[in-house]
Amino acid sequence: MECDTNFPCDIEELVDPKNNFGGSVDDFTKSQAFCTVRLKQRPKKVKLAKQSLNYNCSLLEHLSTPKIEGNSANFKSNYVPSYSEDKSSQERDFGEVSSVPGTEKIFVKTWGCTHNNSDSEYMAGLLSSYGNEIKKGKELGKMIVIAGCVSQAAPRSSFLKGLSIIGVQQIDRVVEVVEQTLRGNSVRLLGSRRENGRRLGGAALSLPKIRKNPLIEIIPINTGCLNQCTYCKTKHSRGDLGSYSIEEIVIRAKEAISEGVVEIWLTSEDTGAYGRDIGTTLPDLLQELLKVIPGHCMLRIGMTNPPYILDHLEAMAEILNAPQVYSFLHIPVQSGSDAVLLDMKREYSIAEFEHVVDYLKEKVPGITIATDVICGFPTETPEDFTCTMALCHKYCFSSLFINQFYPRPGTPAARMPRIPTQEVKQRSRELSEFFQSYHPYKDREGAVYRVLITDVAHDKMHLVGHNKFYEQVLVLKEDALMGQMVDVEIVSTGKHYMMGIGKIEYQPSAGPAETLCFKHYNAKEIILGKTMEEWLRFSVVYWHSFRGTGTDPFGGPTIKRSWEEGSDALEIARNRLRAAFEFFTKLGNKYYAFHDRDIAPEGETLEETNKYLDEVTDVALELQKQTGVKLLWATCNLFSHPWYMNGAATNPDAHVVAFAGAQVKKGLEIAHKLGAENFVFWGGREGYQSLLNTNLRTELDHYASFLKMAANFKKKIGFTGQLLIEPKPKEPTKHQYDYDAMTVMGFLKTYGLEGDFKLNVEPNHTTLAGHGYEHDIAVAASYKMLGSIDANTGSPDLGWDTDQFPMDIKNATLIMKIILEQGGLSPGGLNFDAKVRRESVEPKDLFIAHIGAMDALARGLKNAAKIVQDGILSQHLKERYNSFTNTIGQKIEKDEATLEDCEAFIASKGNPSLISGQQEHLEAILNHYI
Ligand code: SF4
Repeated sequence: MECDTNFPCDIEELVDPKNNFGGSVDDFTKSQAFCTVRLKQRPKKVKLAKQSLNYNCSLLEHLSTPKIEGNSANFKSNYVPSYSEDKSSQERDFGEVSSVPGTEKIFVKTWGCTHNNSDSEYMAGLLSSYGNEIKKGKELGKMIVIAGCVSQAAPRSSFLKGLSIIGVQQIDRVVEVVEQTLRGNSVRLLGSRRENGRRLGGAALSLPKIRKNPLIEIIPINTGCLNQCTYCKTKHSRGDLGSYSIEEIVIRAKEAISEGVVEIWLTSEDTGAYGRDIGTTLPDLLQELLKVIPGHCMLRIGMTNPPYILDHLEAMAEILNAPQVYSFLHIPVQSGSDAVLLDMKREYSIAEFEHVVDYLKEKVPGITIATDVICGFPTETPEDFTCTMALCHKYCFSSLFINQFYPRPGTPAARMPRIPTQEVKQRSRELSEFFQSYHPYKDREGAVYRVLITDVAHDKMHLVGHNKFYEQVLVLKEDALMGQMVDVEIVSTGKHYMMGIGKIEYQPSAGPAETLCFKHYNAKEIILGKTMEEWLRFSVVYWHSFRGTGTDPFGGPTIKRSWEEGSDALEIARNRLRAAFEFFTKLGNKYYAFHDRDIAPEGETLEETNKYLDEVTDVALELQKQTGVKLLWATCNLFSHPWYMNGAATNPDAHVVAFAGAQVKKGLEIAHKLGAENFVFWGGREGYQSLLNTNLRTELDHYASFLKMAANFKKKIGFTGQLLIEPKPKEPTKHQYDYDAMTVMGFLKTYGLEGDFKLNVEPNHTTLAGHGYEHDIAVAASYKMLGSIDANTGSPDLGWDTDQFPMDIKNATLIMKIILEQGGLSPGGLNFDAKVRRESVEPKDLFIAHIGAMDALARGLKNAAKIVQDGILSQHLKERYNSFTNTIGQKIEKDEATLEDCEAFIASKGNPSLISGQQEHLEAILNHYI
């Protein structure tokens, strides 16, 4: 089925539930609420729908070589052979066709509106009843039958040459058309269905069908409409109004409910016009339907144009308030200018549209009114568009389809002089930006709704439900909730932050340019007895990924994130968290890390700041519970505030040291509250710029005292996370006391702190200290002091702390080898303390950076596992120190040798010989694994 999708009046798929956490930018405008909830009340009894087949339809494709013999007698007056001008069709050799009818595999795919979906469900049902198998996938060797508005309206279009076409009112004959197509005939079964001169709705509603969603029944109540909109192509195919009888629709609804359906959608090109051709009205139909729809089901009324609904406003308001009816109506306005509406032949004025909306808003409290706008209709002047903007400003529609005008061949509007494309784009952009500027659900947190769950969200982690106002609500996935009414409490709301990117999947066969999938990181794959997820413990940092703006010493921000929009710092902080957790759930990392000053805004006083921290970490805690993502570590920012310019714990002013202590107290408390597995100290300004004003020993003593206070408080509050210190040699200070791993270990040992602290090693810092990439990790691991790793890398060409994502496979292999040899990193992890380059300004870049780094480390893990398993390098290492297993070597190792013993040994053995270090040989071995 195809659809004239440029013209929203013809589209009823207002809310595609599967657009959650995914979809295109266009889908953004279709999105309703993005909210997550806490279940208030669970269903007592689980009732699952009977049907389970799930598919999309539009093209009907046969999936194997044609093998069918059918009786074409019925087609004599309806089908035509292949186009005479289509040589390829004429010359097509279908060979000996022999088959058992109804045994073919058919692929059904649909684009377009709800009406098209309904037609496809019927066609799939008929084909299935006939014995054909409805398949989900496509294979080669296809024959094509095409159905829907476009092919019906313009069957002679060149792109339809040689294809079979079935008309929108002939879907009950799909089996015949498919059979004939399989025999090599090109069938055109079109035309209008009439009875006693009156146009009928179409094929009988009682035909068998296979529902796309077994919980939702789509009932077309009429086909066609009473209008002649000048831009519309649908009218050419669906034609004038043809309504089904109330009796037929009610019977269909009852049957569907008995089959397990819980939601009924009434669809047509204009539901408001329903019944005018058969002497009845939409309210009459709805009243009859209400008598048969039970309390656990909901009815959704499809799109209605303003003119005909105007006559029934009072009755419609009453029906929309009924408990089994969604308080929701889709009323396409298309333009805010009467002049444009006249040229569109829409047959209503803006005053009438506003009357419909105002009346329903008053009489149906909470009602959702959705609408559509076409930007750049040929006669739309800038002033007309200003009227459209004013109308949207007035109502702030929570659902708004924004379309750019596109001329459909054969329509009156297609013959009108067009507005320049750039101008059309500019208008639609302006309207889109306005639509995205408001957040209709922002005050809903804490609200409790009864929600009917009917679908699975794109992210496969949530279920999609709707409240009475047909506002979309996401619930964490539990299969037993499907088809149930549940009470939920809204815990977060927002528009989508990262539309167009779904959950990142493992696709090992993806091509080189496909960078939005994992090719190596397969979370549940077992490597040396543990899953990859357990070995790698990936963590996303908050400061770079969600606070980073691309600012550098030479230029301002380049990166603008949608979650930073607004003026309320606390609200932005909450939105940022939601965006972060959306990112985590899509990426699949199980940990994150933050600074206290990144996650919540700073107040005028410590008390005010701590209050903000409490509020924001409440949201974080809820999001952690919902998603299962944990806090790898928290830390305190003890370097940004001006009063930390001379250091925090090592500041020469005790007042500043005390403030830092109070800040760390709160930091440890929130880490404890959020179940952090570690707590990190990074002393960016714990060092000096000049020894002329620095008492080095005094500052180191103060630093140790400060860390002792932290260790004591940690024990006092029962926080079980590991305390970590992160070495770095310089930047921002000229010399930093935590210079490198060995320096920090020496410091801890000197002050008796080695039992309380371990190291969080960042290789970019290691290289700044002049060591090799993996040096500090190896040093810390050698002394069992390696707690966690900030997985990043620097740029040797730049020479400062560039915090790049680790993409180097050799480095990844070397550090994963160390992690494997020490049996894992837990409770630490591989924390991406890395930022996208300031030129990488799109959210997609953030995903790709993490995916690339995760894949690099996964490859490193696999390489390292092979190295460890083969044991060639470890054997070399062992043999190199063999001389310490006996004689003088053994005595030296055991601290039992004296210098006199050494002299005696040389006297007896003579001079040592030269033993090769075999570095090149070992490097060549390493390269074998990479
Ligand atoms: S002509 Fe009918 S189907 Fe087409 S846009 Fe107008 S009301 Fe909708």
